[in-house]
Amino acid sequence: MSQTQVNSICPFCGVGCGMGLVVNDGCINAVKPLSKHPISQGKLCAKGWNTPFGISKHNRITQPLMKKEGVFEVIGWQEALTYIAQNLQKCIRESGSQSVGVISSARATNEDNYAAQKFARAVLKTNNIDHCARICHSPSVVGLKQTLGSGAMTNSIDDVAKADVILIIGADSTENHAIIGGHIMQAKLRGAKLIVVDPRQTRLAQIADLHLQLNIGSNIALLNGLLNIIFQHNWQNDDFLARRCEGTDALKKHVADYPLDKVAELTGIEGQKLVEAAKLYSQANAAFLAYGIGITQFISGTNNVIAVSNLALVCGQIGREGTGVNPLRGQNNVQGACDMGSLPNVYPDYQSAADKKVREKFSHAWNTTVAQAPGLTSLGMSNQARNGKFRGLIICGEDPIVTDPDRNKVEASMRAMDLLVVVELFMTETAKMADIVLPAASFAEKDGTFTNCERRVQLIHKAIEPPGEAKADWQILSEIAKKMGLGGLMNWQTSEQIFDEMAQLTSSFSGMTYSLLAKKNGIQWPCNAEHPKGSRWLHTTTFPIGKGKLIPVDHVPTNEQPDAYYPFWFTTTRLHYHYGCGSMTRQSPLLERETPNGLLYIHPQDALDLGLKNHQAVTVSSRRGYLETRIVLSNELVPGLLSMPYHFKEAPSNMLTNDAMDPTTEMPELKVCAVNIVPLPKNQSPCPSSISTDIEDWVIQ
Ligand code: SF4
Repeated sequence: MSQTQVNSICPFCGVGCGMGLVVNDGCINAVKPLSKHPISQGKLCAKGWNTPFGISKHNRITQPLMKKEGVFEVIGWQEALTYIAQNLQKCIRESGSQSVGVISSARATNEDNYAAQKFARAVLKTNNIDHCARICHSPSVVGLKQTLGSGAMTNSIDDVAKADVILIIGADSTENHAIIGGHIMQAKLRGAKLIVVDPRQTRLAQIADLHLQLNIGSNIALLNGLLNIIFQHNWQNDDFLARRCEGTDALKKHVADYPLDKVAELTGIEGQKLVEAAKLYSQANAAFLAYGIGITQFISGTNNVIAVSNLALVCGQIGREGTGVNPLRGQNNVQGACDMGSLPNVYPDYQSAADKKVREKFSHAWNTTVAQAPGLTSLGMSNQARNGKFRGLIICGEDPIVTDPDRNKVEASMRAMDLLVVVELFMTETAKMADIVLPAASFAEKDGTFTNCERRVQLIHKAIEPPGEAKADWQILSEIAKKMGLGGLMNWQTSEQIFDEMAQLTSSFSGMTYSLLAKKNGIQWPCNAEHPKGSRWLHTTTFPIGKGKLIPVDHVPTNEQPDAYYPFWFTTTRLHYHYGCGSMTRQSPLLERETPNGLLYIHPQDALDLGLKNHQAVTVSSRRGYLETRIVLSNELVPGLLSMPYHFKEAPSNMLTNDAMDPTTEMPELKVCAVNIVPLPKNQSPCPSSISTDIEDWVIQ
């Protein structure tokens, strides 16, 4: 039996570890870490090691499916494409281009995402294009663009090794970005000081020099309080502020309204700890600040990011090795999906869709007239569907039924549409609701590029053939365009042709080619005439907007507070062993063995007060819905705060979560809502909220 190895990139989180796919007899039956990879350096986390299960041919969707009377029947590609094209055209004819849209995938390649936004803008003539960054880091994209001029990680992952202070806010790195979590633990071992800001006692919080266990939702109060302490003690970096920033006086005056006692009350953290943290961070030679969705998934998400940026700018902890403002992106290519313009407001490389010159540039380049009207976000499309104004949607590789807030509303939106097309590997909860399901090729079955959270664009290579009739997203969208009579717009033969087209239309990628990427372990954007070797650090001498902007922001309470009916705070988390909606990681029996499905974590004191025992079955309810599960006692939480991972369709936390939105980005407040719990009657087991995802249970062969 012949065995080969094809080098690629892990398809799970945004760290972007290098892995060799071991191919035997047309199947991937093992992976090997790549010792020379600049980030992973010969390591993979549990998810990475289990990659072969996530794309195995067992249970994959292999042919186009059409739903007829509640069950799916296999149909041919031509029938599926004709049906989709005709129904999209019908929606556009009857209700205009704003009635249709595309949700692209942060799991898919840059080339797939470029094709998705081009399909929306040039073929459907709409800016209704979005993806799951909406519900993870859209506030980073917008907030950091305002303050620094670029919404991406400013530094590189290996800067962790150069920092003498590491500040982690709202990120559980050992669970969600395990290889970065490992780098942070190593930095701590060599003597770096570690500060963790988190309402939960995460694994990093347990080894931190300072754990600021703030009240959930009090991020801005805490950050403004730290800034006030820094100004009061004259710990700010005056030279950096004078040369590189504007708005210092206004910010200083603003944060004076956050004295120690007020901040201690809002955050629940004693004043002395706040002073210690302010001193450590501001006085460090190099302080690396990283944050996650514990900052962004709030109605104040954009302002939370701005507050983080204010702190780094005031202390001059940016633009140098070992420093920076570093959003830890969730999915393997969520950075790339944003970069490629799979967002309603920007074209590739963040060129504004509202700018007439940009629209003219792309109209000219694509030889068509592009969409003119502002686009809808994914949640905007969902809301308009319930109003009857949004009628046709193509979803590539996302599962909003499991991941978006307020599941009952999401299901109502999907049911209200005339046409729902889902392009997927497996029969997800969202795919089950589709009119047409199309078989997608996995990352190991196509060529392309992924961009990790440090802006590193890395090649992936086709190692095996896609199962059955599965195709890459860009091929599927090109074929729909052809059926709509616009095939000339997307007439690519290879993913490299797509990359080259994208590079010609952008500045940050204009110096990149597949052959250059192949010679290195990826290149960090911007890579162009000014930065021919790419960019390890952003903002070293100037910001794209000239000076860094200090923007005063205020603490706002979360949308929901506990009350007599819903007396507990509730937050969502992620687990080391699973990823996103679990559609890939839950194919692995090894990962499934590690974690029972969807448990509710509760502080022992709360359990005692309610007379609950470990593993007791309970009902959890919020103003939007309820679910049944079992409790686990955990000292990671404080009394009054409950938590639940969101990977599990059997206990979907989005039955509970709140869709109240950040007004700037429409980011829903997924991180916090108010709930109640009551025990289920004795001997009653929790009723799982979902049923089989086995393909044979859904398809008439
Ligand atoms: Fe994959 Fe992320 Fe784990 Fe690396 S840290 S192996 S990229 S899941």
